[in-house]
Amino acid sequence: MNMSFKRAFKCFLVRLPFVKGLALSLTRHVPRILMYHRFEAVRGGDGTIVSRETFEWQIGVIKADFRAKTLSECIEQSQNGGTRNGIVALTIDDGYDDFYAIAYPILLGNGIPATLFVVTSYVGGESWFWWDRLRYILKQAPEARKEWRYQRDLFIVDKTTPAKESKTWHRLADYCMTLSESERLRFIGAVADMLGIVVPDTPVGPYKQIGWDRIVDLSNHGVEIGSHTVSHRILTDLDDGSLRQELELSKKEIEARIGRTVKTFCYPNGQTSDYNEQVVAAVEKAGYQGAVVAHEGPYRPAERYKITRVSVSEDRIDFLWKIYGMDFLIMRIKKLFKRSVPGS
Ligand SMILES: [Zn+2]
Repeated sequence: MNMSFKRAFKCFLVRLPFVKGLALSLTRHVPRILMYHRFEAVRGGDGTIVSRETFEWQIGVIKADFRAKTLSECIEQSQNGGTRNGIVALTIDDGYDDFYAIAYPILLGNGIPATLFVVTSYVGGESWFWWDRLRYILKQAPEARKEWRYQRDLFIVDKTTPAKESKTWHRLADYCMTLSESERLRFIGAVADMLGIVVPDTPVGPYKQIGWDRIVDLSNHGVEIGSHTVSHRILTDLDDGSLRQELELSKKEIEARIGRTVKTFCYPNGQTSDYNEQVVAAVEKAGYQGAVVAHEGPYRPAERYKITRVSVSEDRIDFLWKIYGMDFLIMRIKKLFKRSVPGS
């Protein structure tokens, strides 16, 4: 099935009230844990950032067929054997100010709770995320195209079109992922020097952090604040002492700022290689009641320190497909079909 046909078919299927209703009723007991990162006032990028208009539409879908809870309410309900029917938990990672400016007023206006995971050194204005630093450097770079050699690798910095700029960022970011933290800092510093860019000490423009005063405001108005560590370091790379610090210091600082217990945690990067049994045990020991990962998978109430999430983008069909549990329905139909065709 080619991609555009597959998409048109998905679009047709998910809008049929009977099909949508059937998928929902089969999966109603499975909480939907939604994962957001960034928001923008109007759609401008590649669709990974959620625009104000789409977020408003998504909230409309949630209000029509689901009940929104904070993540800790969802975990508590699962632990206590309470009904999980139709539960949706919106989770937002990192702590960018665009959540406060764009998504929060919509949540507030509709009485929808959410859970925000903050990186304490970032929201405190002490650090940039390395990927944003790289984006900022590229954005500011005057050169249209430049070849650059770093150690034994050749890089082409190309800003002649937005697509090429994005490709350049991905190439540099992929390289960064192969480096240790100190090597990465050195490399990004070298990129900035090569392009003649001075990076401000505190995040600016679209990279700006939410700030503690706003986080306190959110906490007082239905947004649960969870920890996303002190510095967003990959936890499987850390020794025991550093791991404990990332988990405990971030929890303590948020609690001191908001005057509430921090119950939930979010693993930086959150892929299967970014947490292991030792990390999970440390999260539990630090006093968290549950933790989310960044990949999808079946929801297992017993695995409250490895709660899988559904990633949300600007794509409305994808949103409907995921939130109504359409994959599960398709899987059931395929199984039925296989059973009714012996030998297939
Ligand atoms: Zn993150």
